[in-house]
Amino acid sequence: MQKEVQEKQQVEAIPEEQQTGIITNIQLFSLNDGPGIRTTVFLKGCRLDCKWCHNPEGNRRYPEVYPFISNCTGCKKCVEVCPTEAITFLEPTRPKIDKSKCIVCMQCIEVCSYDAMVLWGEIVTVKQVIEEVVKDKLFYKNSGGGMTLSGGEPLAQPEFARALMKCAKLQEIHTALDTCGYAKWEVLESVLEWTDLVLFDLKHMDAQAHKEYTGVTNEVILENARRIAAKKIPMRIRIPVITGRNDTVENMRLTAEFVAALDQENENVIQIVDLLPYHPYAGAKYVQFGLEYPFPIGEGYKEEELESIIEIFTGQGLDVTVGG
Ligand code: SF4
Ligand code: SF4
Repeated sequence: MQKEVQEKQQVEAIPEEQQTGIITNIQLFSLNDGPGIRTTVFLKGCRLDCKWCHNPEGNRRYPEVYPFISNCTGCKKCVEVCPTEAITFLEPTRPKIDKSKCIVCMQCIEVCSYDAMVLWGEIVTVKQVIEEVVKDKLFYKNSGGGMTLSGGEPLAQPEFARALMKCAKLQEIHTALDTCGYAKWEVLESVLEWTDLVLFDLKHMDAQAHKEYTGVTNEVILENARRIAAKKIPMRIRIPVITGRNDTVENMRLTAEFVAALDQENENVIQIVDLLPYHPYAGAKYVQFGLEYPFPIGEGYKEEELESIIEIFTGQGLDVTVGG
């Protein structure tokens, strides 16, 4: 009993709880971000610039205000209150915010009666997030779930991510890190200390193609994948399958061989490979916020089209899911 009291005092006193970070969302009852029922915390900010990204709100590591075009009636109350004259109109109901002028005062959000101005990103303390996460502890326990940090990219805010993971672990909550793996090893390792499962993205095995599609080459990412596996931390490999970009037989074969080697050399550390086929609605969010989607909107994959890719991975002895 005395030990329990000591541990509780330790939880209440830990300084990490007061750390702040910026998130875009806390999603309850998430079923696609690791095992069981989970709460997924989306941290804002990402160092990659994937051409097919469908979460533009997660890219930058600071709060932003965006017009939600389909709600706008064109009343122009936002223009009247904006202190920096940042708002202009491309069409009568299509406001545009000049980011170089916007000071994120949020007056346009407050004055708009139609929810046509929204804030991307909220500054919160670790304590605030963990208080939300802990509410579903019973569901995690019964389903084998827990908390997942996603983004954006959680490692873009490493101290905040580490503090969240530590506080969740001290509450005996299973933790998963959903990462693109692009970070200094010391940074990644500091978060891994409190991580039970890593959801690791692999986008392309060719360094130059990786740079073309994401803005960075892949050497650091592949080396970090090897180092995580060597620590024997369970991993799920997540592969976005993108039409005409990384879905060639050659790239999928190289990816499967890389993942199989990680698994074989590290005591079956790979739990599963999640294939995440490009979604035809990925660009819809851009349209809603008046942004140009830099990736052409295609029809997406049919189930039978994925079969040959699945076979490449199962042929290496790996278990595969589609959609995560
Ligand atoms: S964003 Fe809101 S306040 Fe501004 S014009 Fe549209 S409806 Fe009116
Ligand atoms: S947040 Fe403030 S500065 Fe930015 S567009 Fe709205 S009213 Fe103008």
